[in-house]
Amino acid sequence: MKNKNKEEQTVIEAFLYSPEEPDAERFRQLCEFLKEKYKTENVELEWVEDQKVKGGFRLVAGNDIYDWSAQRRLKQLQAEWMKIAKYSEGNVIPLLQENIKDWTPKALAEEIGTVLTVGDGIATIGGLKHAAYGEILIFSHGIRGMVQDLKRDQIGCVLFGDEQDIMQGSTVKRTGRTAGMPVGDAFIGRVVDALGDPLDGKEPITAEGYRAIESPAPGIIDRQPVNAPMETGLLAIDSMFPIGRGQRELIIGDRQTGKTAIALDTILNQKGKNVICIYVAIGQKASSVAQLTETLRKHDAMDYCVVMCATASDTAPLQYIAPYAGCALGEYFMNKGQDVLIIYDDLSKHAIAYRALSLLLERSPGREAYPGDVFYLHSRLLERSAHLSEDRGGGSMTALPIVETQAGDVSAYIPTNIISITDGQIFLESDLFFAGQRPAVNVGLSVSRVGGDAQTKAMKTAAGAIRLDLAQYREMEVFTQFSSDLDDATKRQLVYGQGLMRLLRQEQYHPLKQYEQVIILVAALNHVIQDVPVDEISACSRELIAWTEQKAHHVCTEIERTGQLSEEAKQTILHLAQDFIKSYSLEERTSGQER
Ligand code: ATP
Ligand code: MG
Repeated sequence: MKNKNKEEQTVIEAFLYSPEEPDAERFRQLCEFLKEKYKTENVELEWVEDQKVKGGFRLVAGNDIYDWSAQRRLKQLQAEWMKIAKYSEGNVIPLLQENIKDWTPKALAEEIGTVLTVGDGIATIGGLKHAAYGEILIFSHGIRGMVQDLKRDQIGCVLFGDEQDIMQGSTVKRTGRTAGMPVGDAFIGRVVDALGDPLDGKEPITAEGYRAIESPAPGIIDRQPVNAPMETGLLAIDSMFPIGRGQRELIIGDRQTGKTAIALDTILNQKGKNVICIYVAIGQKASSVAQLTETLRKHDAMDYCVVMCATASDTAPLQYIAPYAGCALGEYFMNKGQDVLIIYDDLSKHAIAYRALSLLLERSPGREAYPGDVFYLHSRLLERSAHLSEDRGGGSMTALPIVETQAGDVSAYIPTNIISITDGQIFLESDLFFAGQRPAVNVGLSVSRVGGDAQTKAMKTAAGAIRLDLAQYREMEVFTQFSSDLDDATKRQLVYGQGLMRLLRQEQYHPLKQYEQVIILVAALNHVIQDVPVDEISACSRELIAWTEQKAHHVCTEIERTGQLSEEAKQTILHLAQDFIKSYSLEERTSGQER
């Protein structure tokens, strides 16, 4: 199409591709069609012989193609069929007959563009004037891409396939649709990539539908307060930083501080609790993900898990969409009224993938070379976690995003962003980790802003003032570091604090049940375990649990069933603990003498 200024009239240059030359009447009809379509009198139509166009013709005018070949009409019919099959839910025949009766092929204009440059998972495209942000484009060989950048005369598009098959000058088609993720119950127990294709070498997954990978977060009316606990099974977290269903709790810490371990233990603790767990691995080593999947399998956790994986070797666009795709899958379950736990491991790598992508799209860098919209990148993702109202089915999606810090610096750009988006953070510290305090939760810097609402009454009663006691201990520890002669009260306080810290240590893959945590907390916070030597505290607490289970089984089942801790039950636990400690110390003394 040319715009000739002199005549102020658009000139349409069109080409007609067909195997045989059309007659004059046909030619005239097509010219009329073009004149009317483009509101101009100046139409230059040229015939080009093309044996590949069977049973019809192809009319190309500027960026528009009108395809009237037999092949194209068949495709239209097929698309119509698919639409019917999708919505009819088994009752295909009558609907199909209805539609076939009315169906006539249409000469639909298809907008096409040309690839200008391609490289690093990004293609720039000329043409496609009407493409929208986030729309999926189809390249040669069926490779898909997503529009990410709209400029005056070109489009930036991220690619989801192998860019080596795309040439400069090759054509690109619009689809008019945004990216979707296949969803369905069949995903449970599977390992998939960011596009929903299986990676575990098993049979293909039959999806029940598609969900847009980007969708708006539930509004205020659609939500209800977070009020049910999502137990991690880790004493250090459940007692002090309780997480609720629908909450977003950040796990933050340096590399190798046990971030993934906390997420993994939380997944293992959901066994039998009717929670679907989705683990999204972003930019990690494939071997780590394989190991994690194996661990899940070994603990029979794959029955309620989906692992979505965009490893470090995947392209930046795939790493970029992975958390959104995982979230779309989570929303599918949440909208069905189920409880979902989703883990994004980790969002710092996600931000880095997005930074790479933005710089390649020539967006201007800002702080730490991240583009200006990096906050929105994570806020729109995490805001989709919710506890839906009863009207919407009452489902929930709890998010545990993970962020890696450099040398404990929580004031870097991405950590501060995500801290401000989430409802709290669990801060892990290298020093604690290397000192053997695992999980290495820093009690002072961690917080859960949903707080006690997400705790059962039993936990709330049992945990009481543990945070305060630990804060006191930490302060006293600093003060007394250099003094040698301490009074007895201070010494006792220090020993008590040390004991509490020891109690919070927990092995990997051993999540504690609610009643087990309650027993430990009741005994410890009432100073019953005070006199047990620090090194024996872990073993002692394990024995105490077994003892209480044996002597007062009904109390354990009651706590587990009702989530309440009556005064009577508390006293029972306390008395049993005192008895146990007496016999424990006696045993200790006799075995000490024997030695
Ligand atoms: P990365 O930065 O590499 O992702 P990470 O912070 O996710 O590391 P993990 O991989 O979870 O850390 O843990 C690091 C190591 O510490 C692992 O070998 C893990 O087995 C060990 N570990 C984590 N938590 C515990 C624990 N509670 N008890 C004993 N070992 C633990
Ligand atoms: Mg990790």
